[in-house]
Amino acid sequence: MARRTDQRARVREIPPTAGLPPRWRDLLPPFSSDLAARAARFLGVPQVQIECSGTAALIVALTTLHRLSGRRFVVVPAYTCPLVALAVAYCGLELRLCDLAVDGIDFDEDDLERVCNDRTLAIVPTHLGGRAIDITTSLRIARSVGAYVIEDAAQGLGARQDGVSVGLAGDIGFFSLAAGKGLTTYEGGLLISRDETLRRELARTSVGIVPRKIGWELKRSLQLFGYHIAYRPILLPLAYGLPLRRALRRGDAVAAVGDDFPAKIPVHKLGAWRRSVGARALARLPGFLDAGRVRAANRVAQIEKIAGIKVIGDAANGDGVWPFLLVRMPSRAARDHALTILWRAGVGVSRLFIHALPDYLDLSNIVAPADVPNARAFAERSLTISNSEWLGDDVFAWIAAVLESVIS
Ligand SMILES: *Cc1c(COP(=O)(O)O)cnc(C)c1O
Repeated sequence: MARRTDQRARVREIPPTAGLPPRWRDLLPPFSSDLAARAARFLGVPQVQIECSGTAALIVALTTLHRLSGRRFVVVPAYTCPLVALAVAYCGLELRLCDLAVDGIDFDEDDLERVCNDRTLAIVPTHLGGRAIDITTSLRIARSVGAYVIEDAAQGLGARQDGVSVGLAGDIGFFSLAAGKGLTTYEGGLLISRDETLRRELARTSVGIVPRKIGWELKRSLQLFGYHIAYRPILLPLAYGLPLRRALRRGDAVAAVGDDFPAKIPVHKLGAWRRSVGARALARLPGFLDAGRVRAANRVAQIEKIAGIKVIGDAANGDGVWPFLLVRMPSRAARDHALTILWRAGVGVSRLFIHALPDYLDLSNIVAPADVPNARAFAERSLTISNSEWLGDDVFAWIAAVLESVIS
């Protein structure tokens, strides 16, 4: 154990997700003006629409579909990113929560049938943690009530299902380019649709509701520059570890994972310089994601040897991406015990969203109380292990040993 402890002492700070490591020359000339075209090539789609965040992409999608159908109810997983709820509220639409399936991240099929009706605008199945989930059930139920399907692939850029990118089986799909979600322009979003008419309508919406905002672009550009400085093992203790441990000392788990979002969502155009940075980094993304797949496959196998632990995986014919391993522990007590040891240890162990949507105080004016036992159980029993390339095998083995010890 002594050697492992030494190893751990050398670890500075592992980021909670595997972000594509930035390079200085991404920031420099020659500037690239074709992020949309390169992203389209990468995803194997005819066209990609760029927005300033995943949330803004969802806002553009919802605004478009509402204009086309006039319906108002949007069905989302009861355990998902709080920004999804804020996007629905931003559009003046109403949330309907669907519980998760027992012990997984898919929708509970019976609950989905129950919440959908002829007033449902869209169902939003979610590729949480980069998983390629099966959206067949969402599509079937959406079609039966005349609703659309928007695939939330915010965490899943590069994930494939049946050999094509996720986001194409549904009517619209979106990806996030936020810091920590793989490829980043600090904040950014991509919208895709296999339907040409919808693509045209999405572009029309963008022209209508997305202004240029110099102040926001300046702020995001500085943040992207800061990210290039800070996203390295030697500076992450300061940029990520310090605020994390401060939040944990306060007992503020929501702040610790950055779940505390602003009430006002910025919607503006993504500027040319940040597009260029994204376009240049995109060249490295395929190799980066493939290396992540190999690393994750090894580590999933290692962790799943521990009785009682499950790592959330892909649906059949799915080939997801691995920003982190999404781990379901056998009990809340075991999960909490593991986190008391691992969360502040700087080894890249964290949590995804802290609560099921009805349990965020800050969302109480837009999320109605709901009985969503499986979503709550998932929030209480899950943790994440970073798939960053900076998390070495020895440290991973130590994490696995801790997980095993808290269960037995
Ligand atoms: C991050 C995230 C979003 C929002 O994307 P941003 O780019 O951060 O606005 C939406 N859904 C899920 C599941 C996410 O993880």
